Amino acid sequence: MQTMINGCDISCCTLCPRECGTDRTASYGNCGCDDKLRAARCALHMWEEPCISGTNGSGTIFFSGCSLSCCYCQNQKISHDCFGTEITTKHLAQCMLKLQQQGAHNINFVTGSHFTPWITEAVHMVRDKLTIPLVWNSSGYETVETLRLLDGIIDIYLPDVKYLYPATAREYSWAPDYPEYALKAIAEMHRQVGKPVFDENGIMKKGLIIRHLILPGHRHESIDILKKLTELLPKEEFLISLMGQYTPPKEKLPYKNLNRKLTTMEYSSVLRCAEKLELNGFSQELSSAQAQYTPEFDLEGLPND
Ligand code: SF4
Ligand code: SF4
Repeated sequence: MQTMINGCDISCCTLCPRECGTDRTASYGNCGCDDKLRAARCALHMWEEPCISGTNGSGTIFFSGCSLSCCYCQNQKISHDCFGTEITTKHLAQCMLKLQQQGAHNINFVTGSHFTPWITEAVHMVRDKLTIPLVWNSSGYETVETLRLLDGIIDIYLPDVKYLYPATAREYSWAPDYPEYALKAIAEMHRQVGKPVFDENGIMKKGLIIRHLILPGHRHESIDILKKLTELLPKEEFLISLMGQYTPPKEKLPYKNLNRKLTTMEYSSVLRCAEKLELNGFSQELSSAQAQYTPEFDLEGLPND
């Protein structure tokens, strides 16, 4: 029997590129989640890009689970271990209103792809009360079909582009098809939101910011990603956010390069390429502490916290 959530059949789930066909009413998919909406934190966050965090903060809602399984993930507690609490779509709708009341510049859905129909259902409940932009903060591992559910709902896309080479995507995230899906996803996101729009205070209202975390030992791939993006989109129609704060996980990985930080030479060479390509956007200092960007996942702001 089919079980539909906001028009999507979750008894044979194909929401993300894994297309694992799991019956989420009875079991857990590769993303680690069943049909219960789960989240780990709902709070103002100051460490997104300046045009997203502004002065008041971005209203982040971190979802549990993830359909990628990056070996260097800094959020393993929620992405791999699925830490979080079960919430209803009504709770989620209330969380959005609460963040808006707290002064958030936007509502920022973090890693919510595997819950897309639940999220759209919640947005519809409070749509007439929301006056701030909605941000989709994702790994970039998305299908165009699922992204179309967000067309007209999401104002700002904030995807990663992690890899361009299938071999790297296979090695580090068990997803050799990541580059293919991510590039199509980026094109669809751009189609939906168009070029960046800001308010008089420089806060983003609409647009696309593409994030890229430079991995130690992979500066050439990073440079190829930047070049590929300029082939895919007009450069004035997106912003790039280059991140150099890669932090090796506590437990040693079987890849020597991922057990060290990025060098200044690696970081500078990618930054130089971005400048040469005349890309607009942001870069995080090498010295930035990763801890600043990774909040405590303590169920803050969620029902029963
Ligand atoms: S969202 Fe989860 S259950 Fe659905 S296809 Fe992806 S991994 Fe499978
Ligand atoms: S996509 Fe992000 S949250 Fe998911 S496993 Fe990779 S690094 Fe972690």
